[in-house]
Amino acid sequence: MAVYKAPLRDMKFVLNEVFRADQLWASMPDTRETTPDLADAILEEAAKTTEGLLFPLNRQGDEQGCHWHDGEVTTPDGFKDAYKTFAENGWTSLTGNPEYGGQGMPKSLSVLFEEMLHGSNTSFALYPILTNGACLCLDAHASEELKQQYLPRLYSGEWSGTMCLTEPHCGTDLGILRSKAIPNDDGSYNVSGTKIFITGGEHDLTDNIVHLVLAKLPDAPSGTKGISLFVVPKYLPDADGNAGERNGVQCGSIEHKMGIQGSSTCVLNFDDAKGWLVGEPHQGLPAMFTMMNYERLSIGLQGLGLGEASYQSAVDYARERLQGRSAHGTQNPDSNADPLIVHGDIRRMLLTMRAWNEGGRALASYVGMQLDMAKFSDDPETQEKAEERVALLTPVAKAFFTDRGLDTCVIGQQVFGGHGYIREWGMEQFVRDARIAQIYEGTNGIQALDLIGRKMARNGGQFVQDYIADIRQWLSEQADNAVVREFAAPLERAVATLEEVTHSLMTQAQEHPNVLNASAVEYTDLFGLVTYAWLWARMMAAAEPKSGDGDFHDAKLTVGRFYFQKMLPRAWSLAEQLQAGDDAIMALGAEAF
Ligand SMILES: Cc1cc2nc3c(=O)[nH]c(=O)nc-3n(C[C@H](O)[C@H](O)[C@H](O)COP(=O)(O)OP(=O)(O)OC[C@H]3O[C@@H](n4cnc5c(N)ncnc54)[C@H](O)[C@@H]3O)c2cc1C
Repeated sequence: MAVYKAPLRDMKFVLNEVFRADQLWASMPDTRETTPDLADAILEEAAKTTEGLLFPLNRQGDEQGCHWHDGEVTTPDGFKDAYKTFAENGWTSLTGNPEYGGQGMPKSLSVLFEEMLHGSNTSFALYPILTNGACLCLDAHASEELKQQYLPRLYSGEWSGTMCLTEPHCGTDLGILRSKAIPNDDGSYNVSGTKIFITGGEHDLTDNIVHLVLAKLPDAPSGTKGISLFVVPKYLPDADGNAGERNGVQCGSIEHKMGIQGSSTCVLNFDDAKGWLVGEPHQGLPAMFTMMNYERLSIGLQGLGLGEASYQSAVDYARERLQGRSAHGTQNPDSNADPLIVHGDIRRMLLTMRAWNEGGRALASYVGMQLDMAKFSDDPETQEKAEERVALLTPVAKAFFTDRGLDTCVIGQQVFGGHGYIREWGMEQFVRDARIAQIYEGTNGIQALDLIGRKMARNGGQFVQDYIADIRQWLSEQADNAVVREFAAPLERAVATLEEVTHSLMTQAQEHPNVLNASAVEYTDLFGLVTYAWLWARMMAAAEPKSGDGDFHDAKLTVGRFYFQKMLPRAWSLAEQLQAGDDAIMALGAEAF
């Protein structure tokens, strides 16, 4: 059976031993109160909530799914009560702005909580995660009046939030969206249009649903520069701020889909629904990006959380299931077969899963810390550098976590053999639930284009060069560390490969306009592999002193060696593919496909 335990020991290792997040928090006034004891207590409570409240609803949520009737959507049994408890225990306000009722906790802590949410019940996770993103966007861009009206109720969990971008004819290319907003004399707008695939667009968990909607004003310029952002509640707030009169937005239907059955995916029809502008006219897309960047990291964590759940379940199974004898001779003389875990191929699969998960957890924490510096640091230079790093690594995190997350879930299913394909074991649910994370929040192809186009080529490779310089700086500071010395040469080779390929692609692009588009996904994979090599080296450097938990640290070193010997070498073949250019991709005429 599938199992899930929050990987607390590894989470605390990454936070406290690898990155010394406590020192960062103590250095910034707004995060000073997050002491190591408080952070530990939050993680432990989060583990109890996700293991005890959410994971038990995961399987049933998949079996029952959501149901639409006459515009109303019911979520699976248990979701509503669980959401109430979840909100009452303060989980919906963890990172919220304290001025409006949030708890102001750092992102480097909440990424670990979000991983637990996705690992235990990814369908449930999407409701609060979308709400958090909506809060972040309102907090950054809405007027004071709108913030007062919406944020306290969203933080308290009484209301939830959505993100309404996609329309039937436009997903990636938002410049061609058709939804319209007509100004009223009282400062409000009438919003009309059809949005599809809206996560949490309608459900029975909260008293009100607050939609953040992209639409065009009558005088809008064409393309993405003509998009504005509106807040459109399902129920209009009354004079006391409670959910009052019904607004002109209806859920036309929900989608029947491959996975995340407990998450409602809705068609929303806006028909002169009353809304209010968030931010400046025609500046909706940059404002929405505040939400989308947050969601991209969170959706990345969907891949990571599910990969962890799949790994734990596969380890359990590999210990229990008896098949064949070890190549080293009988290991289990009391039975006529040895457990799966003795076999080389099973160990290869388990180690691959673990190396992806632990590398991913380290990257999530690193990006979380950069987000904290960007938000809370009072030093403009630190802030600017952190913003650049977040911009560079967000598409990598989203795409690499979710691609490797699906790989990991498929490997976990493989460890179960035929039982992995059978519903009751739960392994196929992880695969189905992980698949969507590669598609929504901007497909992974689009994340890769963001990395190679906006974050790499547009500034002449400067962000990448700064990143490489930081890795080299770290390596030079570790010259005396015996463990790092063992991996200094492959890490330096990895960094040099990334540098060379980056330079080569920019040169190729001058003559071959399609080379960046055609190389983006492979470049993102290379970037991810090199990044994980650095983070594995950092974890191994922190594991080396074996401070009181020898087994854990020894295992960390062993998995790290596996990463360097068995996984990083994929970077060399990717580099060769990337250096080969785009001729083979663009040569075939469209009619010849
Ligand atoms: C379950 C689910 C939940 C969702 N939740 C939400 C939500 O809450 N809110 C919301 O607004 N949307 C949501 N979406 C929509 C989702 O974000 C879009 O489906 C996604 O962004 C892709 O858009 P599309 O489906 O229109 O594909 P298209 O844009 O048509 O893309 C099709 C393919 O072409 C590729 N492609 C497109 N343009 C280019 C290019 N220039 N160069 C190279 N390749 C390109 C894409 O990568 C993709 O592989 C959800 C979707 C699903 C299925």
